[in-house]
Amino acid sequence: MTCGVQYPPSTDPPARCDVCEDERQYVGWSGQRWTTLDDLRVDHETEIRDDLGLTGIGTRPSFAIGQRALLVTSPSGNVLWDCITVIDDAAVEAMRRLGGVRAIAISHPHYYSAMVEWSKALDAPILLHAADRHWVMRPDPRIEHWKGETKELWDGMTLIRGGGHFEGGTVLHWPAGADGRGALLTGDIVQVAQDRRWVSFMYSFPNYIPLPAGEVERIAAALEPFEFDRIYGAWWDRNVTEDAKGALRRSADRYVRALTAQLEQ
Ligand SMILES: [Zn+2]
Repeated sequence: MTCGVQYPPSTDPPARCDVCEDERQYVGWSGQRWTTLDDLRVDHETEIRDDLGLTGIGTRPSFAIGQRALLVTSPSGNVLWDCITVIDDAAVEAMRRLGGVRAIAISHPHYYSAMVEWSKALDAPILLHAADRHWVMRPDPRIEHWKGETKELWDGMTLIRGGGHFEGGTVLHWPAGADGRGALLTGDIVQVAQDRRWVSFMYSFPNYIPLPAGEVERIAAALEPFEFDRIYGAWWDRNVTEDAKGALRRSADRYVRALTAQLEQ
């Protein structure tokens, strides 16, 4: 219930959760607790609404990490970016009305959530970076692991391995986004900061473990070849609306300065 990652069907709850026990997450303060999709649906439902020009799919009330997925509509097929745990008929019907989903792509293991349920319901493969293969808690033949630094999709869209928070941490470049100025969808591989004019990078968000300077510089360099004016972050309205490429560059520089004791006071 803390990370929202689904495990395979079993008669008894799993003994432990690898995702929660990793230092990039945490076990809930009252101990590990489990639920089922049926139980979750009793008091949770999907919330579908616009988020800066994209259709967002979230959970009401918020559940686990609280991220929302985004549907990127594109002429040759739509991408469901990131994923959530609760899935219901209303969400599946909404996706179908908007043209269905050609593939689900997920930034990193914290958002693997109930990806297999979504994949089955939408009849769409799941694209995950192979470096995080061992974090798949519910294996399924619908999962396709891709390798390397980039994977081209269609209509100019590209999955980029940002790494950092997770070795296979992935960002989606959507060139048609922001009215053709381009957009990045980043999950928390590039984390949109609270002021929404800056971004940040962490190894562990809940436990406040930063990334090494060289890793932050490497992420910024991996994204530099792509044109984008917007960054869509992991939660509702957590987006850099304009000049996102400049924001990313300034933010990487600021982060490295902070690590090397050059913060302004
Ligand atoms: Zn995360």
